[in-house]
Amino acid sequence: MTVSFDTAADLAPRILAGERRALARAITLVESGRADHRAQATALLDRLGTEKKALRIGLSGTPGVGKSTFIESFGMMLVGLGLRVAVLAVDPSSARSGGSILGDKTRMERLSREPAAFIRPSPSQAQLGGVARRTREAVALCEAAGFDVVLIETVGVGQSETLVAEMTDLFILLMAPAGGDELQGVKRGIMEMADMILVNKADGDLKPAALRTVSDYAGALRLLRRRPQDPEGFPKAVPVSALAEEGLKLAWEDMQSLAAWRRDKGHFDRRRAEQARHWFETEVREGLLARLTQDPAIRARMQALGTAVAEGQAAPAAAAAEMLAELQR
Ligand code: GDP
Repeated sequence: MTVSFDTAADLAPRILAGERRALARAITLVESGRADHRAQATALLDRLGTEKKALRIGLSGTPGVGKSTFIESFGMMLVGLGLRVAVLAVDPSSARSGGSILGDKTRMERLSREPAAFIRPSPSQAQLGGVARRTREAVALCEAAGFDVVLIETVGVGQSETLVAEMTDLFILLMAPAGGDELQGVKRGIMEMADMILVNKADGDLKPAALRTVSDYAGALRLLRRRPQDPEGFPKAVPVSALAEEGLKLAWEDMQSLAAWRRDKGHFDRRRAEQARHWFETEVREGLLARLTQDPAIRARMQALGTAVAEGQAAPAAAAAEMLAELQR
């Protein structure tokens, strides 16, 4: 990379002042694989502190369901309410397809021109693990920059939904109108993660099908076990039209009342605390694994001990204990 990065000391106050260019550079920093950038990113995040004010909303849905159209209209509505909105994307498939589907900024043309909005596409060439760290850190940066709502968009691929659900306050599933049979295809695990199901495209000819789909999902959600973090009536399914901009305000009111209820009952802070602990533990685990695979001396020792075990010269447990003792040094 040819860009030379500002230090954490330089970037921090600019991010705290809400400067979008500084935020964009900081996200580039957290995405970088270089060791010196990593050290600067860590120092920056530490300097920015942990006071979190934004509402983090995860949004998932298969390609074509209307995610970008929804984010554009929903985001514009929020901006209209005087809120600042950041949009991040988690797209583990982009590494495979070579280019990010979510990377096309023209998808959200109006929103990307809004001074109160910030849109960051998914970086290409990322592993899911790398995506997790990058996204968590990007969320923290957006919060430090004073955004009121951070939307994290993901396509329904592999583990990406779980990953997003684990770093957000609310998890929203965007679905298309469907015939009754198609409902079966929704993975139960994803239904269980959802706080709300928005059935999009409830307009024109599709409206009757959308309304039927809403009641199908509502029925399916009622069959799920009631979670302690849900007030009466949640998780719920509602119709929206991203295109006609209908149902968006109602959906936002539902999200706010759910968040308010959880704040009131302590679920909100508890979940954040668990997420922070999980993040910390993941960093420690990944740091240890990185040392195992990246430090040449440790890698050589691992190799040698592995051979000794394979040849019956050392017992596996004793060799592992020796390896772990070495890691502590
Ligand atoms: P994404 O792949 O999930 O980001 O979906 P897009 O936002 O790109 O939308 C896919 C297609 O669905 C586009 O042709 C949109 O115009 C259309 N679409 C999105 N939202 C709506 C909606 O609310 N109603 C209708 N009728 N079409 C929509």
